[in-house]
Amino acid sequence: MHGPPCPIQSCAMAETGEEETVSTEASGFSDLSDSEFLEFLDLEDAQESSASLSKSGPSTEPPGKDDKPVSLQNWKRGLDVSSPMERFHLKYLYVTDLSTQNWCELQTAYGKELPGFLVPEKAAVLDTGASIHLARELELHDLVTIPITTKEDAWAIKFLNILSMIPTLQSGGRIREFPVFGEVEGVLLVGVIDELHYTAKGELELAELKTRRHPVLPLEAQKKKDCFQVSLYKYIFDAMVQGKVTPASLIHHTKLCPEKPLGPSVLRHAQQGGFSVKSLGDLMELVFLSLTLSDLPVIDILKIEYIHQETATVLGTETVTFEEKEVRGKVQHYMAYWMGHREPQGVDVEEAWKCRTCNYADICEWRKGGGVLSSTLKPQAKKPK
Ligand code: SF4
Repeated sequence: MHGPPCPIQSCAMAETGEEETVSTEASGFSDLSDSEFLEFLDLEDAQESSASLSKSGPSTEPPGKDDKPVSLQNWKRGLDVSSPMERFHLKYLYVTDLSTQNWCELQTAYGKELPGFLVPEKAAVLDTGASIHLARELELHDLVTIPITTKEDAWAIKFLNILSMIPTLQSGGRIREFPVFGEVEGVLLVGVIDELHYTAKGELELAELKTRRHPVLPLEAQKKKDCFQVSLYKYIFDAMVQGKVTPASLIHHTKLCPEKPLGPSVLRHAQQGGFSVKSLGDLMELVFLSLTLSDLPVIDILKIEYIHQETATVLGTETVTFEEKEVRGKVQHYMAYWMGHREPQGVDVEEAWKCRTCNYADICEWRKGGGVLSSTLKPQAKKPK
């Protein structure tokens, strides 16, 4: 009899030339809690950031470095033909993509187009935030790192983690970093729930941890974005446990190959966990069966906890009321942009204060145009099919 396996994280190996894909795809789930990405937009942090120096990447001579506007030629060219999903080569979106869209859609679009724009201060915030998340996770269990060489292995790891967490949740335990995914309005949406546990009354509660650089609560606009984020988690998690997410839809969007045999390290870990599987397809079936047959409840309560990074003091907690209709309406509106059915929008006039702290303020065509995209940038919206 085997005990539940420790949660695992992937580490990409440079064997097949696919490692870049793997690490990119894996990062949405395990390498970094996607909730951390929201800190990039944290207003108070942004206020302290000098303009655009770049954290990441080899090609990162940061655009706009000398306060010169960035040429958006590439963007313009791409806009002529395809939807943002196609143009940015996206197979799926992260929950945080939609919650940042809730802050400013154009900023999210710039983030995809110019990923090297991250300022160093924000990178530091991200690192510290990720450490706090990791420390919390390690309170509950050890983490095992598994080398992987294919994107199928990267997804297999997410599935093994789900399989290891379901029994804990079933028996009333607490779990952290639970991967969620599901098709929403024709697009696959993925994310990671920080924590799920039961209250004294037996209700299933989602707890989202937000680390703050300064010991103050965020502004209402930031809270609104956080509320939308946790509402999306519930939206997807509930669909998963209700059997509305299917392997076929996942394969369709991710272009994963279910027949591909799993790598030796992943197989070994699966066997240690008592799972008799050979391919990703086997594992997928097992996950979908477990999710639907385990009789897991839907999420009853959504809670956000704001914590000061340095002192770990709890600054406050928000309880979010889930408004399904409103969430669905927003998702439909946001997905219309990603599917190329409408052009991206910047902030409304009354929220122009957001531009003051935006990394893209110097190059933003919306801001320059006083609330419209200039004709040269204007994407050609595809007609809905
Ligand atoms: Fe959005 Fe303003 Fe930034 Fe433009 S400058 S991307 S409108 S927040």
